[in-house]
Amino acid sequence: MSTNLTSLQVNIITPDGTSYQQDDVELVVGRALDGEFGIMKGHEPMVAALQIWPVRVKTAAGEDMVAVFGGFLEVKENVVTIISQNAETADYIDVERAMRARERALARIEKPTPDIDLLRAERALQRALIRLQVGRRD
Ligand code: ATP
Repeated sequence: MSTNLTSLQVNIITPDGTSYQQDDVELVVGRALDGEFGIMKGHEPMVAALQIWPVRVKTAAGEDMVAVFGGFLEVKENVVTIISQNAETADYIDVERAMRARERALARIEKPTPDIDLLRAERALQRALIRLQVGRRD
């Protein structure tokens, strides 16, 4: 059991700097490549590769949702560090733009032409869906 900090802290770091930080966290929930995780104070050390998926951070005051676009998570001494190429909080997300991106990606996936890169369209759809989930708090 780790006891360096008396409470759990979450830091989400991207190439732009720290994009989210929270102290006194009760629970962090997200999805790693090998499945869902839930982290509370005292969690054993852990490293995981993340899916493009919302990370939920629960405190006594409520819950934040952050769109995390893959990357890695480390749990050590009551600090959860997420390092990702991109992470967006709800207030940052332009929902209309994400809706347009979703429609574009869906159109490409439904009517693929020889010049369409299907995997690229699927990734774009995944990014749009996570933005909609976090931006609208679906
Ligand atoms: P779009 O097709 O709308 O550009 P995308 O998924 O291709 O979306 P990304 O390549 O993931 O976009 O991101 C490029 C930049 O645009 C990043 O800085 C990202 O934060 C920003 N971005 C993309 N979509 C949104 C959005 N809906 N709201 C706010 N910022 C966005």
